[in-house]
Amino acid sequence: MPKGLKGFQKGHKFYKGGEKGWFKTGHKDTRSPEVIARIVFLAKQRNGEKNPQWKGDKVSYRELHKWIRKNKPLQAFCSNCKQEKKKLDIANISGFYKREINDFEWLCRMCHMNKDGRWNKFVEARQRRIKVA
Ligand SMILES: [Zn+2]
Repeated sequence: MPKGLKGFQKGHKFYKGGEKGWFKTGHKDTRSPEVIARIVFLAKQRNGEKNPQWKGDKVSYRELHKWIRKNKPLQAFCSNCKQEKKKLDIANISGFYKREINDFEWLCRMCHMNKDGRWNKFVEARQRRIKVA
């Protein structure tokens, strides 16, 4: 058996979310087990808002980031330098971390660091390290 297929044999049931819920693999579904696992994962994430543990506005920074990532439409380019990037960060605009999609923007690592001032700190730290060495 190919590696990674364990537990994803024909006829196994998976929850794909929605009203129909469980479905059987191995019929018309030609998607790979990895893809199906991803769909299941996303379906579970999407159900997060119905989760009783949801803290509303008292949501933590980490959960807020997760929520923004899930709800904010993806884009291929950085909102600041407009360059196309494979990976973008979610960056808070106001600094108040409001639970508002519009209070966040997609930034490339460089612009995000620049905006946060982290880049300067990083350069300073590196310069210091060079001096020490
Ligand atoms: Zn950028």
